[in-house]
Amino acid sequence: MSAPAPIIIVGGGIAGLSAALAAAPAPVLLLARASGTRGAASALAQGGIAAAIDPGDSPQAHARDTCVAGGFHNDPAIVDLLTINAGDAVGWLQDIGVAFDREPDGRLQFCREGGHDRARIVHAGGDATGAKVMEALVAAARAATHIERRVGVDVDGLVLRDGQVCGVCVTRADGGREALHGRAVVLATGGIGGLFAQTSNPADADGNGLALALAAGAAARDLEFVQFHPTAMALPGLHSLPLVTEALRGAGARLLGTDGASLMDGVHPLADLAPRDIVARRVWQAGRDGGAWLDAHKVGAAFPQRFPTVFQACMDHGIDPRVQPIPVTPAAHFHMGGISVDADGHSSLPGLFAVGEVACNGVHGANRLASNSLLEGVVFGRRLGALLRPLADGGQPRGSFRMVRRKPSLDAAQLDYLRALMMQAMGPLRSGATLQAALQDCTELAGSGWQGELAQRMLGEALRRTASLGAHYRSDAPPVG
Ligand SMILES: Cc1cc2nc3c(=O)[nH]c(=O)nc-3n(C[C@H](O)[C@H](O)[C@H](O)COP(=O)(O)OP(=O)(O)OC[C@H]3O[C@@H](n4cnc5c(N)ncnc54)[C@H](O)[C@@H]3O)c2cc1C
Repeated sequence: MSAPAPIIIVGGGIAGLSAALAAAPAPVLLLARASGTRGAASALAQGGIAAAIDPGDSPQAHARDTCVAGGFHNDPAIVDLLTINAGDAVGWLQDIGVAFDREPDGRLQFCREGGHDRARIVHAGGDATGAKVMEALVAAARAATHIERRVGVDVDGLVLRDGQVCGVCVTRADGGREALHGRAVVLATGGIGGLFAQTSNPADADGNGLALALAAGAAARDLEFVQFHPTAMALPGLHSLPLVTEALRGAGARLLGTDGASLMDGVHPLADLAPRDIVARRVWQAGRDGGAWLDAHKVGAAFPQRFPTVFQACMDHGIDPRVQPIPVTPAAHFHMGGISVDADGHSSLPGLFAVGEVACNGVHGANRLASNSLLEGVVFGRRLGALLRPLADGGQPRGSFRMVRRKPSLDAAQLDYLRALMMQAMGPLRSGATLQAALQDCTELAGSGWQGELAQRMLGEALRRTASLGAHYRSDAPPVG
């Protein structure tokens, strides 16, 4: 008897790895472009994981904050799933070896971030949570006998039979191509920051998995909602920018304009700790007026211990953040929209599942609450893995095979142009006129490459949403109240 076809999971970030581990003992083929923690946004996460674990906290309070941040565009049942399972998710991560930071008396240490009504963020290695979590997940996946890992492959097509997705096409590092067959295909390919001129995301987070699912006819949802982080390090000529965590402002850092005056005083009662989208718009405007800086000297001598990742990134670029202000700019950070899925990760195409940032199950609504995304990857990844387990014993679809491939990529010059266009039109500040103009500008690019096609879909959705909501802010229709 031949071995059962594996479940194919595309993506080695927190969502793909959580799903792969939870599918045991069903055989899993895990495909990723890069080995270890490389290429995954998960490994860059600085803030942490939100979970109502503290005795005074509750999943209901966490859910309320999630929906307020999301502009009540969230699916409340999915939000409850997230917040009720958060404690278990953190416990599971501890079981596989993540050592979250603790207070001197041994209790878990909780931080507070923008939008949370209390301290409920667990973190590891100070601002190195993503790296620590990913190290543990990668080690667990390497030790798991049901997971076969193949790295250095680019998944650029889907195999369908009888209208059901039952495999993927890959291009190997040596340029060779092959089709791989499986019981089900899970896309866990991450976000879309790479479509914008400035992003906090790694290069692999370019929307390719979303583009592939759309090419195969899968339904998408909420594509217009893109979150911009207000403080990426402004480094001219660079596309993927180091993030300067919000927690620095929690520790007393202040945003300043070219004249050295506060950017946030008088803009919002919470000043530098105002919601992420409000700060991002202010920093975006300041960038047009000459620039924005984060003065973090108040963090003082403890900077390297408290924020080792940011400290290293600053020093790598010749800035000593203890004494010099950090130049900052907003950057595309997180996609609330994606492949439309239900609570179990089913897309509209039989056999195709999606989880993590590439998916949209409605949990984040119109704007993601800080530190809810790693949590999403673990909660919905594990849920999907468990659901896929019995599929290993199911039958295979019959009929002739059909391959759906992504369009070719745009060339470097076209991509630069598209990224600048997206930053201007789909950035922190939008308007009907700029969206309309960008949509027209995009027509030729949409015919040339998959990035243009995806951008066209996103611009179209943003134009159709005529009112401001969450991260979708239109200057021609500002939010009411
Ligand atoms: C700088 C930064 C800081 C952040 N901080 C936090 C935080 O503190 N808390 C929080 O909750 N969230 C945070 N986020 C958001 C969070 O990290 C991401 O949303 C989350 O990690 C996404 O996980 P994922 O598994 O969906 O995707 P990823 O971790 O991005 O993994 C995607 C995987 O898919 C692979 N891949 C992509 N395309 C292909 C292809 N065609 N073929 C094969 N493989 C492919 C990639 O190589 C990668 O392995 C942060 C994000 C960034 C960028």
